[in-house]
Amino acid sequence: MRALIVSDIHSNLEALQGVLGDANRRGGFDMVWCLGDVVGYGPDPGPCIELLRQQDLVCVVGNHDYAAIGKIGVEEFNTYAAQAARWTAAQLCKDQVDFLGSLPEVERKGNFTLVHGSLRDPVWEYLVGQYAAVDTFGRLETPYCLVGHSHIPLLCTEMGSVAAFGPFVEDEAVKLGRQRMIINPGGVGQPRDGDPRPSYVLYDSDSGTITRHRVTYDIAITQEKMRRVGLPDYLIQRLSHGR
Ligand code: ZN
Repeated sequence: MRALIVSDIHSNLEALQGVLGDANRRGGFDMVWCLGDVVGYGPDPGPCIELLRQQDLVCVVGNHDYAAIGKIGVEEFNTYAAQAARWTAAQLCKDQVDFLGSLPEVERKGNFTLVHGSLRDPVWEYLVGQYAAVDTFGRLETPYCLVGHSHIPLLCTEMGSVAAFGPFVEDEAVKLGRQRMIINPGGVGQPRDGDPRPSYVLYDSDSGTITRHRVTYDIAITQEKMRRVGLPDYLIQRLSHGR
C-alpha cells in the first residue's frame, strides 16, 4: 500500500495538482492522508475540497478548516488570515461546509496517528520543539505520528525521554524502524521553510519507508487568482518566498 501524505493545502489548487501529478509520476499511491488546513489563504477552497474528495481519502481537520465553517472565531487569527478566512467561508457550498465539519481531529491508520497540530492540542499547537514533541510522544498510542500546521518538514525520533530532531532530507527514503517518530511532510499550499515548492511525503508499506519530495508549480497563476479575488497582498507575496 502506498499513501500520499499531504498537509496545509490552503486552497492552492495548482500546488495540489502539482503534488498529485508528481506523486503519480513517482509510482502513484493508493490513498491520500491529509493532515488538515485544506482551505484558508488561497483562492480555490471549493475546487481543492472536490479534488481531494475524488481520492481515497483520510483527512483530519485543521484550524483554518474550522475557521472557514465558523467552528472557531477569526479573532484568534492575524489580520491576513482572518480576512482570508472570511472570504473562504463565503465561497463554500453547504456540502463542502458539511465535509469540513465531518472531519475528525485525530485519526488512526495502521501504525500512524494523524493530527493537524499535536496530540495535546489537535488544531492549535505547533509541534516544532522539544516540549511539544515529548508531550505528543507521551500521548501517542501508535509507532508514528503525522502532523502538519507549521508548514515545515520535520522528522523527530523518540530517544528515551527526549525527542531528537533530525533533518528530513528531500528524495531520501527513511526506513521506519522500532523507534517511534513524529513526521511532518511540510506544507503543500504555503510552504514556510524558505523553499516555495510544495512538500509532501510518499509512504510505502512494502518497503516500510517514507520519502519526502518537492515539486514546482506555476506560482504566478495562483497569485493572479488571489489578486483577482482581493486576497491580501502579504499572502500573495509570501508564496514566492516560502516564508
Ligand atoms: Zn496551515
